[in-house]
Amino acid sequence: MSETLPVPSRPAAPPAVPPLERRARVDLGAVRHNVRALRARLTRADGTAPRLMAVVKADAYGHGAVPVARAVLEAGADRLGVAHVAEALELRAAGIAAPVLAWLHTRDTPFAAALEADVALGVSSAAELEAVAAAARAVGRRAVVHVKTDTGLGRNGCLPEALPALAARAAALQAEGLVDVEGVFSHLAVADEPERAQETDAQAGAFAAAAGVLAAAGVPARVRHLANTPAALTRPDLHHDMVRVGLGLYGLSPFAGRSPEEFGLRPAMSLQTTLAQVKRVGPGQGVSYGFRFRTTGDTVLGLVPLGYADGVPRVAEHAPVAVGGRHVRAVGRIAMDQFLVDLGPDAREEVGDPVELFGPDSGIPADAWAEAAGTINYELVTRISPRVPRVHVDAAAPGDTGEGRA
Ligand SMILES: *Cc1c(COP(=O)(O)O)cnc(C)c1O
Repeated sequence: MSETLPVPSRPAAPPAVPPLERRARVDLGAVRHNVRALRARLTRADGTAPRLMAVVKADAYGHGAVPVARAVLEAGADRLGVAHVAEALELRAAGIAAPVLAWLHTRDTPFAAALEADVALGVSSAAELEAVAAAARAVGRRAVVHVKTDTGLGRNGCLPEALPALAARAAALQAEGLVDVEGVFSHLAVADEPERAQETDAQAGAFAAAAGVLAAAGVPARVRHLANTPAALTRPDLHHDMVRVGLGLYGLSPFAGRSPEEFGLRPAMSLQTTLAQVKRVGPGQGVSYGFRFRTTGDTVLGLVPLGYADGVPRVAEHAPVAVGGRHVRAVGRIAMDQFLVDLGPDAREEVGDPVELFGPDSGIPADAWAEAAGTINYELVTRISPRVPRVHVDAAAPGDTGEGRA
């Protein structure tokens, strides 16, 4: 039986917005800077430059698709790229009207909704083209398509042997007014390893051949695009009419052992929280599941309230962490909600002190966590889970902190 609680004479004041316990801070000023830095590198000697498609799939690699899309467009990106039609529709629902291309579909992809929302579609096969054309007929709108060709990566995209039939069908559907073949594109497999130039060159050759097949069929693509971030940074010969840049927007480097700063890029995301507990312990103290770490002497353990449910990789033991201004190491298993850092016997840190796992404040790169987890920076930032609030700040606009929480 529950007790009867006294009824307050007037409703309690609404709770104030609580301070954030943990956050992925995203500096939109850095994102804008990165667009401009990339643009500067894309400009050719004669002053012309390819168009820049900003790839904001996967919630802008974990940075928040809608605020990032707005920022990149303000900074001069020409178009947006996403994998899923659903991601494109989310941008449209937020009022973003810029050209968007979506390229990874299934039998259940809502092509009609895409066409009604003016979303351009990558098309990887004749069957996909027919489904898009059927949607165009149903809604009475011409589909803008970019033919995706497989030039060696082996993922989605049309293989060279299937391309002539696809091109012929595209020409017939274009004559009917159901499709407009605006673009042709392909994706590179090893551009992040510049020493493997021959393999990239082979893809470039296959891409030129594919563009030729479309032209010969009477559907010459007006926008050819092949380069991702690594090729945008190192292969000006592959820039064609447009580059599709993802990782670079977020200020991360696609090259092992080369920092983003080398390319004039600034990391945008910082993963931050505060110390939740501080414990002075003696030797032999077990630390987290499996006792994979035991203290060997007197020390101080700090509790970081982030874990694998937040996207911190469980395997990233020994990754660096900034506590206050000091760099220390994660010790023991990273659990679902929390992990520990060894602050050493002389620690003066206290509960509430700021903690940064990676980000420009501490200078710890996302790559350090990626390396500790045996993965790449792409995965590290993309996997930060929805449990961690994204806080969008703009270093260029003072006082803009805590707003734009998403
Ligand atoms: C994700 C993706 C990109 C962006 O790649 P980055 O290396 O992040 O620049 C470009 N094109 C396609 C087809 C993609 O899937």
